[in-house]
Amino acid sequence: MNKLIKKTADLILSSKKTIALTGAGISVESGIPPFRGKGSLWDKIDPMEYAHINSFLKDPEKVWKGLLIEMGEIISQAEPNDGHKGLALLEKNQLLDTIITQNVDGLHQFAGNSDVIEFHGSFAWQRCLECHKPLETTKVDLSKIPPECECGGLLRPDCVFFGEMIPEDSLWRSRKISSECDLMLVVGTSAVVQPASIMPEIAKRNGASVVEINPEETPLTDRITDCFLKGDAGKVMNQLVSALGIK
Ligand code: NAD
Ligand code: ZN
Repeated sequence: MNKLIKKTADLILSSKKTIALTGAGISVESGIPPFRGKGSLWDKIDPMEYAHINSFLKDPEKVWKGLLIEMGEIISQAEPNDGHKGLALLEKNQLLDTIITQNVDGLHQFAGNSDVIEFHGSFAWQRCLECHKPLETTKVDLSKIPPECECGGLLRPDCVFFGEMIPEDSLWRSRKISSECDLMLVVGTSAVVQPASIMPEIAKRNGASVVEINPEETPLTDRITDCFLKGDAGKVMNQLVSALGIK
């Protein structure tokens, strides 16, 4: 493992443009359960039943009660862990340009990263299905479920449900920087949710190196990854940060 950490540190130091792609796994050590893998949210509930846009539109009360209220509580109590903090340190030392995250928890910005593409939107905001007005999630009145906008319209989180399109600008910019980078750090993603999982492929095809940090192998590991750092994001990032000697 020490050799792989050293190899990754060298890749980071020699790279002109490093970006990161993160997934639910990086927030596990902050107490937010992932979608897949051990201890996942979907051991308890079926994603297609709760996180598909058609399910939400058909029965918003069920989705708010079975998923969204709990998600809001968990996210509001979560704080960045050493995985997020390590990526923030990389940016502070001009060793990381941009993070493409599939997470909706806002923890990268909380940790201090300034350029974060929220590929699947953000749970920090809700919007009204009628008048489209945004409302901060912390200000939503949950005494009535599903909660409503002041106009009486239904509120939905500003995240991408399964069955919805990725916002055009996020997709466009993610593809662009993936094709331009010479190193991509892929942290805590199962790499099975399209189109986010295409970004490492784009990077690789354009000559970039790919480093993966994950306690479990993914479909990328054998095919695309140059350096697989097996382990929890926080622990591995701490090792990387000390190998780089950055503060
Ligand atoms: P995923 O749930 O499909 O996969 C999680 C991955 O993280 C797995 O490969 C697992 O092995 C790995 N993992 C588990 N613990 C880890 C740790 N401590 N350190 C590093 N890796 C760890 O996640 P995904 O690939 O991001 O895709 C699922 C979708 O889930 C995304 O679209 C995202 O929007 C959504 N989601 C977001 C959050 C969040 O905002 N924190 C939480 C759950 C799901
Ligand atoms: Zn409204």
